[in-house]
Amino acid sequence: MTTEHAMTEPKPIAQREQSPTQTHEVKRVAPETPLRDLMEGDARREIRVHEHGLMALVDVMPRLAPEGQTADQAIVQAARVSYGAGTKKVNEDRGLIRYLLRHRHTTPFEMVEFKFHIAMPIFIARQWIRHRTANVNEYSARYSIVHDRFYRPAREGVRKQSATNRQGGEESFNLADPAQAKTADEYLAYLDEVEALYAKYQQLNEAGVSRELARIGLPVSVYTEWYWKCDLHNILRFLSLRIDAHAQQEIRDFASAMLQLIEPIVPLTVEAWRDYELESVRLTRLEIEAIRSIRQGGDAELATDNKRERAEWAAKRESLGL
Ligand SMILES: Cc1cc2nc3c(=O)[nH]c(=O)nc-3n(C[C@H](O)[C@H](O)[C@H](O)COP(=O)(O)OP(=O)(O)OC[C@H]3O[C@@H](n4cnc5c(N)ncnc54)[C@H](O)[C@@H]3O)c2cc1C
Repeated sequence: MTTEHAMTEPKPIAQREQSPTQTHEVKRVAPETPLRDLMEGDARREIRVHEHGLMALVDVMPRLAPEGQTADQAIVQAARVSYGAGTKKVNEDRGLIRYLLRHRHTTPFEMVEFKFHIAMPIFIARQWIRHRTANVNEYSARYSIVHDRFYRPAREGVRKQSATNRQGGEESFNLADPAQAKTADEYLAYLDEVEALYAKYQQLNEAGVSRELARIGLPVSVYTEWYWKCDLHNILRFLSLRIDAHAQQEIRDFASAMLQLIEPIVPLTVEAWRDYELESVRLTRLEIEAIRSIRQGGDAELATDNKRERAEWAAKRESLGL
């Protein structure tokens, strides 16, 4: 009988073909200037987010940089390889990084990578995992017991449904108004009820229900953890989307913690990204035409009936002081 085992059984050593790998000479090259650890010897750098959340930077590539430089140097090094020159003076490096970011030359920014250990509620993890360019390893609730940790906003942080944005929460309930305070309290009581399911989860685990099935009755406010590694180009994209006011407040809190951790390691890049991306305003053709119309005595009205586009233009006009 042919079995899978029989088919894959290794040959005796004497019968093996010669190894296909070769041995090469390795030349070790010392750095031209002393190198420093960009995390200054720290094993990790942690920021607590909410009551149970964690954003921890655990590693960075490059971890070492010449004295007086940051990981921005790896971006410059990659960009300059195209014309064979290495890193130049810091102010020239800054100019190059700003040029690269302004003109969306993305690959040099992929030369820097960050690895994080993050603990966040599952409803945030669901939004986060949509950023497909990262490498992720998540805590397994099939293998291990889910910890008794749930996210809940503070009483004064219970948000109302936005009237203008179907996807968003806006201002908080006014707790000075008894009717609104009652609604906020009802919401927190509802969270109490779903968190109480944890006791049932534990009891069913102990009674022998598999962990993979016991977990499915827990709410999405329960915490998960993962290691998340991503290159700087895609981290900046993640931050642009998730620091933005349209993103849910809870994921914005994690994104701003991430930004705080990476900024000292790539300060020139973060500065350029703030200038050309985060705090910039992108104009559409219709918006440019509306601005041009001002010079001809127009009122900068947008030539569209689309309500959402008009609302976006109103927000841009306000930020531009038009
Ligand atoms: C405020 C907000 C609201 C949202 N609402 C919803 C919603 O209601 N429903 C919903 O489903 N999603 C929603 N999303 C998720 C959103 O649509 C994106 O999926 C998410 O933001 C990831 O963005 P990304 O594709 O740019 O990121 P990434 O997946 O990190 O991709 C980064 C870049 O790499 C490219 N890329 C990724 N994978 C590949 C690949 N395999 N091959 C080639 N290129 C690749 C992408 O095109 C992109 O340019 C929302 C996001 C935000 C910020």
